[in-house]
Amino acid sequence: MDKRDTRVRVRFAPSPTGHLHVGGLRSALFNWLFARHHGGSFLLRIEDTDKERSLPEYTNSITEALSWCSLISDEPIVIQSERAAEHVMVAQLMLKNGRAYKCYCTQEELQQRLGANAAEGLGYVKYDQACRNTEDRAGVPYVIRFKLPDTIQEVVFNDLVHGDIVFNLDTLDDFIIVRSDGTPMYNFVVVVDDASMNITHVIRGEDHISNTPKQILLYQACGFTVPQFAHVPMILGPQGNRLSKRDAATAALDYRRQGFLPEALCNYLVRLGWSHGDQEIFSMAEAISLFSLKEVGKKGAIFDMKKLEWLNGMYMRSYTAQDLLHKIQHNFNQNFVDRFHLWTQEQLCAAIDLYKERVKTLRELQDSLYILHDGPIIENLVDASRSLAQQVQVQQNMQMFEKKLMDISDFTKPALERVVQEMCHDQGCKISDIGQPVRVALTGVTSSPSFYDLMCILGKEETLNRLRMLQKA
Ligand code: GLU
Repeated sequence: MDKRDTRVRVRFAPSPTGHLHVGGLRSALFNWLFARHHGGSFLLRIEDTDKERSLPEYTNSITEALSWCSLISDEPIVIQSERAAEHVMVAQLMLKNGRAYKCYCTQEELQQRLGANAAEGLGYVKYDQACRNTEDRAGVPYVIRFKLPDTIQEVVFNDLVHGDIVFNLDTLDDFIIVRSDGTPMYNFVVVVDDASMNITHVIRGEDHISNTPKQILLYQACGFTVPQFAHVPMILGPQGNRLSKRDAATAALDYRRQGFLPEALCNYLVRLGWSHGDQEIFSMAEAISLFSLKEVGKKGAIFDMKKLEWLNGMYMRSYTAQDLLHKIQHNFNQNFVDRFHLWTQEQLCAAIDLYKERVKTLRELQDSLYILHDGPIIENLVDASRSLAQQVQVQQNMQMFEKKLMDISDFTKPALERVVQEMCHDQGCKISDIGQPVRVALTGVTSSPSFYDLMCILGKEETLNRLRMLQKA
C-alpha cells in the first residue's frame, strides 16, 4: 500500500524503563515516515504499566529525544497507566464472555504439578488449564488467564517486512493477562490500547514477533480489528550481536551530547535497515516520499560509527556558519557564543566556516574553535610541536617572519601569501617551514586549516602575540 491513505494510524510505544535506545528511535522514525508518507497519524504511547521498572525521568528523556529528532505525536501522548479502568473493563468482559478465566493456582501448586519453570511463567512448561472450569472462590487471590481457542491449530499473519509468519498453537498456553495484584500484562494492554487508539499498523522491533500470535488471538477474542504488523530487524554491533553499550552509545541523547545533528542521526538510522538504491543522503521530505516497508531489509544491520560520523560531517558542511552557530547554541551548548568574548561575530563565523570542513561533529567544531580563540597553552605543547618550536632554524625564521608581519599594513590573505613567498625565496626554505611553526604558535598543533586563514581570523596583533609566545617556549 503505497498510496496516500489518511486512515493510517501508527504509534510508537516505548516503556520508560530506560533512555530511548537508538533502535527504538529508528522504530519511531519508521512509524513517523510511514504515517507521513500516507498522510496518516503518528501517535506516542508511554507504556508505564510496569510500575517497578518505569521511572518518570525516562519518560522525560524519551520525549526529549523524540522532540530533538522532531518526531512529535500528532495527538496528545497516551499514558498507559491512565487507561487502567479500560483495561479492567475489557478483562471483565472477557471473563464474562468466557474468553478468559480466573486461575487460583498458587505458585507452590504450579511448581508441584508442572515444575519450577511454569511457576515463574517462563513458558517452557505450559499451564495445564486446571482452572478452566473452576467455580468462583470468594476472597481467594487469582490471576486472569486467556482461554486459548480449541478450534484453531495455528495463527498466521502477513508481516509487512518478513512475509507470512506461522505460529503453531502448540507453542502457546493459557497465558496470564492480569496478575494477581490486578495489574494487566503487556500483551493484553498493548492490544486494548492499540484497538482503542484505532492503530492500523504496528511497526516495531523484531523482538516482538513472538508476542504477535498472542496479541492476534486477543484481538480476535475481544472482537477488535487486527492491525497489520511490520517487525523491523534489530540494530547489531560489529560482532553481529544486538547493539550494546560496549559497541557504541545506545541512548539517542548521547548522540546529542557527542555533537551529532538530529537530521544526520535520523538519516543514518533510516538508511540502516531501509534502502532506496544506493542513495545515502536523504532530506526528510525525500525520505517521506520514498519510504516504504517493502524496502526494509529482513536482516539486522550493523551499526557503523564511521559512517554516521561521515554523514554528520556531510550535513555540517552543507550548512552556513550562521546555521551551525544556531544549531550549536540551541541544541548543543547554550553558552557557546559567550565563550568567544574576544571575537566579533564575524570572526566566529569565519572560524566556523574554516573548521566545518574538517570536523565530524559539533563537539569537534566547538573544541577546535575554543583552542583557536583561547590560543595554545605553550607549556602544554605536545612533543612534536615542542621539538619543532625549539629548533634554532625555526626560531630564526619566526623572528624574521614576525618582523615582516609588523610591516604589513593590509593584513589580508594575498598580502600574507606574498610575504611568505618572498621569505621562502630569500631564505631558500619551503612554505611548510614557516607554515608549521605558525600553526603551532596559533593553535598548539601541527595540523590545522590554512595558516593564512587562521592569521586573518585572529588579526595582526593576536597573531604577533602568539608568534612571540612560541619563541619563549
Ligand atoms: N513497550 C514495548 C517496548 O518498549 C513496545 C510495545 C509495542 O511496540 O508493541 O518494547
